[in-house]
Amino acid sequence: MNVMNDLSADALRVRITQHLTYTLGKDKPNASLYDWRMAVSYSVRDLIIEPWFAATRKTYEAQGKRVYYLSLEFLIGRILGDAMMNLGLFQAVQDVLDGEGISLADVIEDEPDAALGNGGLGRLAACFLESMSTLACPAYGYGIRYEHGLFRQAFESGRQVEHPEDWLNQPHPWEFERPEARYTVPFKGHVSVVDGKSVWHPSETVFARAYDMPVVGWQGKWANTLRLWGAHPTELFDLEQFNSGDHTAAAAPEALARTLSRVLYPEDTTDSGKELRLKQEYFLTSAALQDILRRFLSEYDDFALLPDKVAIQMNDTHPALAGPELIRLLMDDHGLPWDAAKRIAEGCLNYTNHTLLPEALETWSTWLMGRVLPRHMQIIERVDKEHRAATKCAAELAIVKHDQVHMGTLAFVMASHVNGVSALHSDLMKETVFKGLNGLYPARIVNQTNGVTPRRWLRLSNPALSKVLTDTIGAGWESDLARLSDLGAHEDDRALRDAIGAAKRHNKVALSNWASDKLGVSLNPDAMFDVQIKRIHEYKRQLLNVFETIARWSAIRADPKANWTPRVKIFGGKAAPGYFVAKEIIHLINDVAKTVNNDPVVGDLLKVVYPANYNVSMAERLIPATDLSEQISTAGKEASGTGNMKFTMNGALTIGTLDGANVEIREHVGAENFFLFGMTASEVRARYLIADHAREAILASQTLQDILQMIVEGRFSPEETDRYNGLVDATWNHDPFLVASDFDSYLAAQAKVDDAFADTDHWNTLALRNIAGSGYFSSDRTIKGYMDEIWDTKSLL
Ligand SMILES: *Cc1c(COP(=O)(O)O)cnc(C)c1O
Repeated sequence: MNVMNDLSADALRVRITQHLTYTLGKDKPNASLYDWRMAVSYSVRDLIIEPWFAATRKTYEAQGKRVYYLSLEFLIGRILGDAMMNLGLFQAVQDVLDGEGISLADVIEDEPDAALGNGGLGRLAACFLESMSTLACPAYGYGIRYEHGLFRQAFESGRQVEHPEDWLNQPHPWEFERPEARYTVPFKGHVSVVDGKSVWHPSETVFARAYDMPVVGWQGKWANTLRLWGAHPTELFDLEQFNSGDHTAAAAPEALARTLSRVLYPEDTTDSGKELRLKQEYFLTSAALQDILRRFLSEYDDFALLPDKVAIQMNDTHPALAGPELIRLLMDDHGLPWDAAKRIAEGCLNYTNHTLLPEALETWSTWLMGRVLPRHMQIIERVDKEHRAATKCAAELAIVKHDQVHMGTLAFVMASHVNGVSALHSDLMKETVFKGLNGLYPARIVNQTNGVTPRRWLRLSNPALSKVLTDTIGAGWESDLARLSDLGAHEDDRALRDAIGAAKRHNKVALSNWASDKLGVSLNPDAMFDVQIKRIHEYKRQLLNVFETIARWSAIRADPKANWTPRVKIFGGKAAPGYFVAKEIIHLINDVAKTVNNDPVVGDLLKVVYPANYNVSMAERLIPATDLSEQISTAGKEASGTGNMKFTMNGALTIGTLDGANVEIREHVGAENFFLFGMTASEVRARYLIADHAREAILASQTLQDILQMIVEGRFSPEETDRYNGLVDATWNHDPFLVASDFDSYLAAQAKVDDAFADTDHWNTLALRNIAGSGYFSSDRTIKGYMDEIWDTKSLL
């Protein structure tokens, strides 16, 4: 069903005008861009309501199993363009706005990003929601309605500074507030035993209030709900204190409650261990589970059916309190005995692991857990005792050890299925962090390689390439991405290769115009656009890329007349505010950019740009314009990556290590169409055993020695020559992510990239093969895997 079949452009114009008039209270001559955006958004939203209601009705009628995706992060980005595209309304809205003299592009740009996530993990959750709607898998996303999403990044003298993000400063047109859908979430206090039963007497409570967003799938055939919880006080106001003149104290309960959903923690792959974070995790989990049980009880009265009707997916360990909370609700609120409650909980729960980095594995001290959630601490102890008794496991494999609750172990023990997010990652889970648990619970670990939605990441963000695809292989690839392999048969068609190259150039020109507008730098669209955009983290090795940039700059200066392939190096990404080394790397990139871009000897042969505040919207702008995708993490450290998949779909070639999903991307696009370098995961493990691996590698590479020398001499920071002494010292003496050991291999691969790019038609052929091989990386394929192998759910279309 296409909504537009039933809706003429005239009818749409009437709807938009009505919202402008009656919802916004503006007449056209006075309407601002904001007013137009709101009017268009409400008009588009209206058209999602019917499929949304129909989906709910169908699920009730079919008595279908529902999926509940629990995630502390949903990195959604802008919504309007995506909704218009999925409803088939893009052209009609464009026509209406053209008629009013309003630019649709400006309207779309006016929307703030919904940035309720840090990076890959949160963006995965957003792609999954869209795919579950496209596949008509009955599902709810559950998250927190943070008032302030991920901080806005700015650079001051090359250093990252963080500003609060304020997306809810304006009304949010995509949500429905549900004052009636409200649960009490308890904290702290003590537990007593009454008639042999545990009774929790909490000393603090907050209300979780639901805010619903419809998530419409491709062609508007189905819409699921993203339900975000906002914290509200259970005691509104202390009137007595107010009347006695203490106005601040009177408002204290309200302020306290609201801190719970005030701000997203900006740590990515590190565990901050803060009390407020534990409370946020429990706030989401408890509200979600109370809601799930209420919905279940509206249809059924036997909790034994719960695992047949409910599948709960825990996105990382952040919602891992779902296990103890479900047991608590079933026992304490619904009177089930321990054994039944635990068995039912285990039947519903599944856990996705996202990282093997030890600093990311969540732990909470038993002291904090016992103080904030005393009843849950009891339940965790009992689950642990039974786990140890049943498996006779080593002390190492306990949930509680050395006064810490290990959330990964808790999630693992309580889940029916535990999944990794790429083939390599799932294998490494079995060999490393979860080796012991895998022995105790064999076959529990499964793999579901990540994917991304081709609607947002290809069709919406890259209309030029999308048209080439449809012209070549026909319509419909958007919901059947494996069909991109049909391109392979047209590889010898010179016109198609030229068209792919022309679409890329079109996008590069658009990006150059944006860069000249917003950043004041002029980029040559015929240069290679070489892009590394992702969180700044040592394991992702932006440092390796900066070192190569310095080597290239230095080599060009030494011989500017040689036959150089011109490059534009683009970096993007934020560092966690407390991550000192990552912030030094940002500073170095900006210092190198300043030096290189002002060097008249180098000119157009090399430019370095680092636009501030990388987010979903910036990714949508950069990825379609990329020639070379940098996926250069230390092998064994990146669980999957999803940025790598977006680039491949958009015809960028990858320079990468055998890490995460790079391994599978290379298999699907063909090894000869991928620039591989570096050690494998097992070579990395062996390398770490050599005590002075860094010094050894540096002494073997004159180029790397020269680069480090230039940095310590202050070539990029003449105003503060010792600025990077710490960074260089750490490279010589520690190099925890083996930048030095992989450097020469990376340099050699980059030289091959230069050669390949010099032959445009050859490069276009490689790009074609990358697009043709990218179909596997649709999140539709991933979600089908979860439905078949983890959730046991069926599509209702
Ligand atoms: C896709 C995406 C990511 C994940 O990128 P990786 O390269 O896989 O780390 C992070 N942030 C944003 C905004 C994204 O769109």
